[in-house]
Amino acid sequence: MSAYDYDLFVIGAGSGGVRGARMAAATGARVGIAEGRRVGGTCVLRGCVPKKLLVYAAHFAHDFADAAAYGWRLRPPTHEWAQLIQAKNTETDRLNGIYIRLLQNAGVTIHDGYAKFIDAHTLDVGGSRITAERILIASGGHPVIPAIPGAEHAITSDEALDLLSRPERIVIVGAGYIAVEFAGIFAGLGSDVKLLVRSKLLRGFDADVVRELGQALERAGIEMVVGAEPAAIAQGTNGYTVTMQTGETIETDLVMFAAGRDPNIKGMGLEEIGVDLKGGKAIKVDAFSKTSVDNIYAVGDVTDRMALTPVAIHEAMCFVDTVYKGKPRKPNYQFVPTAVFSDPPIGTVGLTEEDAIAKYGEVDVYTARFRPMKHTLTGRDHVTFMKLIVDPDSDQVLGCHMIGEDAAEIAQGLGIAMKAGATKADFDATIGIHPTAAEEFVTMREKRAPPQAAAAE
Ligand code: NAP
Repeated sequence: MSAYDYDLFVIGAGSGGVRGARMAAATGARVGIAEGRRVGGTCVLRGCVPKKLLVYAAHFAHDFADAAAYGWRLRPPTHEWAQLIQAKNTETDRLNGIYIRLLQNAGVTIHDGYAKFIDAHTLDVGGSRITAERILIASGGHPVIPAIPGAEHAITSDEALDLLSRPERIVIVGAGYIAVEFAGIFAGLGSDVKLLVRSKLLRGFDADVVRELGQALERAGIEMVVGAEPAAIAQGTNGYTVTMQTGETIETDLVMFAAGRDPNIKGMGLEEIGVDLKGGKAIKVDAFSKTSVDNIYAVGDVTDRMALTPVAIHEAMCFVDTVYKGKPRKPNYQFVPTAVFSDPPIGTVGLTEEDAIAKYGEVDVYTARFRPMKHTLTGRDHVTFMKLIVDPDSDQVLGCHMIGEDAAEIAQGLGIAMKAGATKADFDATIGIHPTAAEEFVTMREKRAPPQAAAAE
């Protein structure tokens, strides 16, 4: 019998922590888990899931208008924000219950409270001392709040999902995943949205896709204030005034920070027990998710590797295989498909053109840009754009990018092809499904002219 209370203690019951705890318990390990908020974590309760429900809600705005072109006659619809939030809460409560039951059924003991290290094997959780042979930190992250005067007036994505009413005007600070997703939600539901873009929209995404998104946001009436960084927020009688570093001001009903996320490490006592940090912010781990302390591991957003739920789950599974199943497995970050649920959505797998050129020198690029078939009748000026990046030497597809309806659903299948090492010839040999947008990925035959040739035309 081990001298410890648990074989494994997990800090944080989000996607990575719950999966790690359940899978370790299934091998016979005695497992405990601490959660300071609610079991389920960011993705389930304050991120991906509730956000997507709100994205669905916003899309109905287009659908009602488009239906007229297909013969439907509807009275002008109205939207009840409070009802949407209530319905979303019912669903996240249901998921919270499912996650609690998953842990209980797996034999994992849940401890309510935040965990703090006393030593490498001992934690304080809500005043109780708990010991464990190994500890897995999966405490996730939180929204960054820029340190500017009046920052306390602004909300983050956490509060945006629980607003009692929808603001008529909103200023969103940031231009990453969260900013563009919430811009689409609020604009779709009727708010006037201004996006403060400090440097560029969706930094790190393929430049052509970003350009298309910028045009789509403009068409949707979302104003992008480029080069804007807020210096202060002041409350007035009729909302808030955001003052930029340039001195310019914007009046609004609500300010939302979507300015990145930082790992949750505060108050955990990590440095005191010798857990090394990366840039003082994230937990440093080796290729097997082990920290600088031999019995302590970390997965998910707290490690700042790739802040995506399915990646945290993959890291947790690799940890269990390595430590509890005797099958060492490193997380694999190649060809991780990802989506941005902007309006229109983006789906992407593999390298951007810029990164592919940096790595491979010359690359072949294939693109398609068209109006989706649905909008031939509606006349809506939506555009779908697709792009393939190919290594001319090996013919391997290095990157697939899409912006347009169903991009997220399509990117998942492309991810399988790319994981299997698909070449452009494999794409060409695949029969398309007609009529779909996805078939364009297997019918692109014309290489885009290199920039110098295009310029000469
Ligand atoms: P992000 O992608 O890191 O983007 C942060 C944005 O905030 C950038 O545009 C940044 O501008 C801007 N910014 C930072 N400080 C600012 C300031 N003081 N003033 C103005 N702008 C400022 O962060 P995020 O959108 O918050 O998302 C966090 C993570 O969550 C992402 O890395 C992503 O992996 C994950 N996530 C994923 C999904 C999904 O899979 N669909 C959805 C949501 C979130 P600069 O470019 O100038 O730095």
